[in-house]
Amino acid sequence: MIIEHQVVRNLVRTSPVAGSSLAGVLRQIARCRRVARRDIARALELSPATVSKAVARLQDIGLVRSEPPRSERPGRPAVPLLWSDDYACLGVSVIDRNGLPSRLVGVATGLDGRAVGPAVRHRLDDGARRDGKQLLAQISTFIDSLTSRADLAQREVLGVGVQVGGPVQDGVVRLSPNSGWATGESLWRAQGRGLDVRQGLQRMIRRPVAVDNNVTALAVYESLYGGTSASNFVVVAVFYDRVGAGIVLNGRVWRGHTSMAGEAGHIRVHSERTARECHSGHRGCVEAYSTPASIMSELGELPETAISRIMGEEEREAFSAAGEALGYGLASIINWLNPEKIILYLPELLRSYAWDKAGRSYIDAMRNAVRKGSLPDGADTVIEEQFFSADHMEEICARAAAGLVLEAIVQDVELQEGHAEEPDRRRRPRRRDRDQPQEQGSQDSSRTSGGTTGVP
Ligand SMILES: [Zn+2]
Repeated sequence: MIIEHQVVRNLVRTSPVAGSSLAGVLRQIARCRRVARRDIARALELSPATVSKAVARLQDIGLVRSEPPRSERPGRPAVPLLWSDDYACLGVSVIDRNGLPSRLVGVATGLDGRAVGPAVRHRLDDGARRDGKQLLAQISTFIDSLTSRADLAQREVLGVGVQVGGPVQDGVVRLSPNSGWATGESLWRAQGRGLDVRQGLQRMIRRPVAVDNNVTALAVYESLYGGTSASNFVVVAVFYDRVGAGIVLNGRVWRGHTSMAGEAGHIRVHSERTARECHSGHRGCVEAYSTPASIMSELGELPETAISRIMGEEEREAFSAAGEALGYGLASIINWLNPEKIILYLPELLRSYAWDKAGRSYIDAMRNAVRKGSLPDGADTVIEEQFFSADHMEEICARAAAGLVLEAIVQDVELQEGHAEEPDRRRRPRRRDRDQPQEQGSQDSSRTSGGTTGVP
């Protein structure tokens, strides 16, 4: 289990193995936030008795509560189910700047994915920017300060989710040029294959930790709380200087063989030898063209808002070329995966330029390229654009990180129920772990050491 907590242990260990529906019910409550048993039964095509049994288990262990029935209509009134207010999940987003971890944004959420209290920000000091151990120590102190906040006094923390910009496998942040954490810093290189954020933090904070890539976490969040009925969709996020994707297939996030799926920023859209280089040193990638940073490198400095500025032809062309590169990248995703929709997170900076048609030319060029690049039926894929300011995006990422905790719980239940479709790599011991003697007891004991506070 990833989330070793008494509540989760009760849930997983006592659930029937075959034909059960606990995971489906958990997902349905997450998606609707407030839902009646009969609506769950309808959505999952299960008998009301089966759903009632599953709900009773969730109520017994205190994860779910019911509200007094509303009886405006004749007949048996529906009893809405909600998440219990007794629990919280913490989410921490590690923000990179110039290729190194720079700041932390933290938030506490209820099991419904909504924030409890305001987001908190912390600037990492130079030591933490350049050394993995110091970074983990600062994240740990930051989590402690989040946990002791007054608005969490009545809630028990089930676990902590951490999201980072780079690739993450088995809780280990891999140090690679596109993780941003490895570029040229000798101390980071000395970490070897990567930084084991999950194990390291769990030892320090003595709470369960789930770690993932930032856009994968966004896909988790959308699949749990996005309220979408789509079970095949892709989240694409354009950050200031990066582009990433998270893939949801059959309602579950698809991470790929080594958790590297969704590197949409590295889809090649220009093949000339002179094509621009991306952070990983490849040429012609989406990321090298479609971000605000890449537009800026073309035009020189961009002001925060273009309202007072009249755009010339050169500007419009730069925005248009950037949007086109993104569009061809999206067309590739559509051709490969045929998703029902693509949820596109875009920087607010782009929309502020729409006032002067430059931002609009980005979106128009993107949509054109999607049409030209995907096969005709691919045009059925809906593209939902959402614009976010940098601050707002950071908070959403932190909430998404907190969502990793509930996802890990649901995955544990799915595994127990025997309908996890793919063996989850994060749960299997890695070769390195099997071959080397454990530092202290088994891998699991280091995860659970100390457990969490106030376990009933
Ligand atoms: Zn690339």
